[in-house]
Amino acid sequence: MKTQQKKITLVGAGLVGSLLAVYLAKRGYHITIFEKRSDMCSTAMSAGRSINLALANRGIKPLEEVGLMSAVAQLIIPMTGRMLHDKQGQLTFLPYGQRSHEVIYSVSRGELNKLLMNAAEAVGHVDLHFQHSIETVDFDRNTMQVKNEVTGELREHQFDLLIGADGGGSAVRKAVDAYHGQVSVEEKLFHSYKELHIAATPQHQFQMQGDALHIWPRGDYMMIALPNPDKSFTVTLFLPDQGPDSFSEMKTAAQFLPFAHAQFADALPLMPDAGPFFEQNPTGFLGTVHCPNWTVPGKALLIGDAAHAIVPFHGQGMNCGFEDCAELAALLAQHDDDWAAVMPAYQAARQPNSEAIAQMAQENYVEMRATSADPKFQLKKQIGFLLEQRFSQFIPRYSMVMFHHLPYAEALRRGRLNDIILDALSADIDHADALNWERAEQLVQQHLGA
Ligand code: FAD
Repeated sequence: MKTQQKKITLVGAGLVGSLLAVYLAKRGYHITIFEKRSDMCSTAMSAGRSINLALANRGIKPLEEVGLMSAVAQLIIPMTGRMLHDKQGQLTFLPYGQRSHEVIYSVSRGELNKLLMNAAEAVGHVDLHFQHSIETVDFDRNTMQVKNEVTGELREHQFDLLIGADGGGSAVRKAVDAYHGQVSVEEKLFHSYKELHIAATPQHQFQMQGDALHIWPRGDYMMIALPNPDKSFTVTLFLPDQGPDSFSEMKTAAQFLPFAHAQFADALPLMPDAGPFFEQNPTGFLGTVHCPNWTVPGKALLIGDAAHAIVPFHGQGMNCGFEDCAELAALLAQHDDDWAAVMPAYQAARQPNSEAIAQMAQENYVEMRATSADPKFQLKKQIGFLLEQRFSQFIPRYSMVMFHHLPYAEALRRGRLNDIILDALSADIDHADALNWERAEQLVQQHLGA
């Protein structure tokens, strides 16, 4: 059944919904979008809500595919590696990759979202309704209740095909769950985040190295900073919800500042407003969504965080959502827009990969806040780069996720084998010069093939 003429109702004009609208509008679909927020092009982004994000290869490829990467390139700042700050303010730089293109990019969430929404509207046949939120969905009648957030008025909207791109708290996902009589698992991390800010100097320069993602790893928690085009940094503090040094223990500037002085002594002087920001900015919670059913056959589909919200520590939530869009578009082309065939193929292709990146993102939190400061970890990174130079079979896991297009599940599988090799090779040495190359070759061939 060819359904090219079908009208699509899309819930959520966030990063993923907007990019998907571009893809679908280009395929000739008429799209009605309901977005809870007001128009970002006319209102500022609310303070303290993940102002910038890391964009990597998996997100770049779809942007290239729809012809938007040259416009996005005006908004991005390359980050070539992690700059670790220890308690004494000593710096250690760990490059992300070893080739000039192996960098990731800091991009403003608001600016990227605006660009994508404008691009969707520019394709034509896209109707955007801001300040309209979805309350309930009835899959028997193909209708949903839409609330006008300004007047409070509720009205019924009839849909042919419904796509939920309404983020981690997705109302569409709840309706899909109800249809199948199953419940998605929302796994809380029990660590949350708060945003702080390092301004540019009066001469409009960065106060720290501008082409790095800065990390203050402190074991159970951490602070990070990503550069912005105006030479400021968006700083994100991740802390446990409970226990010592947690958000429940620190609520006021007076409670936070002595802690920050002890833990982030080099950063605090760069953030004279840290106290008020800490007190006033909202605390964002973090978690992973495991959703069993991403579709209602022939009627509805979930995409992006609505299907698979993950914790942000691999910088992949948006990248993964953009990859969803590209995969869905490829399947539509392959199946001649037969949604009945596309829907199960889409879930089968994406779900194992989203589960894999969810797991790697959780593991990366431990790496960023704790192990990255460990000399053994840094030695393994060095050995990994050396192996990558000599053996084509060996690619460090971080690189597989950020710089390659291998499915996430494959990156996870091969990453486990990498760990066995790196653990064995680093066990008895303190320096990469002492690497036993014969043993390295043996292990690589044994675990990764000739
Ligand atoms: P969202 O961006 O959440 O958009 C959903 C949209 O739906 C919103 O506009 C919302 O207003 C709207 N909506 C919600 N409910 C309704 C409703 N009922 N009716 C109508 N509209 C509705 N990802 C990366 O790739 N790299 C990073 O570096 C990175 N860093 C992050 C840092 C933090 C602190 C956090 C929290 C996340 C980070 N992410 C990162 C993840 C990334 O933000 C998400 O994966 C991405 O925003 C998902 O896009 P989305 O469009 O699916 O959902």
